[in-house]
Amino acid sequence: MPPAEARALDAAPTALLIGGEWLPARGGRLLPVEDPATGQVVAEVADASPEDAAAALEAAAGAQGAWAATAPRRRSEVLWTAYELMTARAEDLAMLMTIEMGKPLAESRAEVAYAAEFFRWFSEEAVRIAGDYRVAPGGANRVLLMRQPVGPCLLVTPWNFPAAMATRKLGPALAAGCTAVLKPAEQTPLSALAIARILTEAGLPRGVVNVITTSSPGEVTAPLFRDRRLRKLSFTGSTEVGSHLMAAASERVLRVSLELGGNAPFIVFADADLDTAVEGALLAKMRNAGEACTAANRFYVQAPVAREFAERLSAAMSKLPVGRGTEPDVKVGPLIDAAQRGKVVSLVDEAASRGARILSGGAAPAGPGYFYQPTVLADVPDGVGLSTTEIFGPVAPVWSFECDEEALAAANGTDYGLVSYVYTRDLGRAFRVAEALETGMVGLNRGIVSDPSAPFGGVKGSGIGREGGEAGIEEYLELKYVAIDKTW
Ligand code: NAD
Repeated sequence: MPPAEARALDAAPTALLIGGEWLPARGGRLLPVEDPATGQVVAEVADASPEDAAAALEAAAGAQGAWAATAPRRRSEVLWTAYELMTARAEDLAMLMTIEMGKPLAESRAEVAYAAEFFRWFSEEAVRIAGDYRVAPGGANRVLLMRQPVGPCLLVTPWNFPAAMATRKLGPALAAGCTAVLKPAEQTPLSALAIARILTEAGLPRGVVNVITTSSPGEVTAPLFRDRRLRKLSFTGSTEVGSHLMAAASERVLRVSLELGGNAPFIVFADADLDTAVEGALLAKMRNAGEACTAANRFYVQAPVAREFAERLSAAMSKLPVGRGTEPDVKVGPLIDAAQRGKVVSLVDEAASRGARILSGGAAPAGPGYFYQPTVLADVPDGVGLSTTEIFGPVAPVWSFECDEEALAAANGTDYGLVSYVYTRDLGRAFRVAEALETGMVGLNRGIVSDPSAPFGGVKGSGIGREGGEAGIEEYLELKYVAIDKTW
């Protein structure tokens, strides 16, 4: 194994973090971690049991009071130090992420920087949690508002952004004064464990953050929902699991934040700058090999430029080198596992069998690893799985449309509502369309919307709540109103 890979793997913790101790799972079970570019097992981490999860919540609950009472400046400093440590160790963290998740090193580096930024942003928010004091309209009473931490949180994260999805929750939770049990995805536990170690080195007190890695997420987390000490669920992942967990959270009326799946429309009007649109399409489609909740899933292009756009996108996509993310120049890594690749294969095959024209790609290359060729399809019939399902792969189906209303009806014709992309040089149209799109975010002549200082999140089946920006910390705060009788 090349030294840089061995160093990154050696540095990563593989035990559970519970109450400030790195512990094996009870019963000693281990969870194998695979490199999706080779299919080889590269590490084994502790495979937590429900008892381990209970111990993690016990630790989080025990640490809650002291952490909530810790001076905001101190909470801020811990987050700031964690930001600095992540930045100093960016190279090892990026390598670790590429090994366990597959994305090219350049993208892993970008994610580490993005992830660290959530610690920096929320270190700045920790000291700005404001209250309010008002004279009630009648003049006699006073209204006092205070913001207090929600309490112990369960944070569940997906594999596609193993570092950023963890820091986007940990940053605001810790800034607000909440403690946490973090449960990363079973495919990518190493990045989360490495970040947890950084937090402990940054001075986070024992028990404030606990990490359980497990191959049985349902079985291990279900008892936590019945434990009266848990106060909040923040989940990022599929709509299916999110809605199941929302039902579980309803039993004890937990606060919930849900960042779920997407089915982003990418709309190109005939007046758009086509160079910018193709460049943005590459970013919106191909970041993370299409395995992003924000990935452009459906391309709607106005008829006069539809053919040219599809051909240019196809030419650009077919030039992207596919391979193991550790290799220089590789732009497209493998998909996460055999199941995900199988889903992409069947979606493309179904569209092709119903008459879609494959302009480029359209197959899985032979050999080890879960690779799929960058693929563009034109003349795609309506109603195929590619238009209704979150593809989560490097596949771009292109449809053409005639007028704004048709594009909007198609874009909004989905149960999802995370993000949409719009390319136009007409300012009036840009605002009209942005207002009419049923999504939590809109990329206007931009293929990437993620920004730690902006509220990230969806509407409809894409979720509830926002992460990042000023809104992010509100998810971890309760508003308390104190009614004051004026007796003086
Ligand atoms: P997933 O729903 O399968 O898993 C997400 C997490 O939930 C993992 O940690 C998994 O172990 C856990 N989980 C699964 N079943 C569970 C259960 N019964 N109880 C408790 N936890 C359970 O999703 P995934 O395949 O890891 O991630 C891909 C999905 O995440 C896509 O749909 C993508 O759009 C979505 N996503 C959304 C955002 C966003 O911000 N909206 C960001 C990234 C990913």
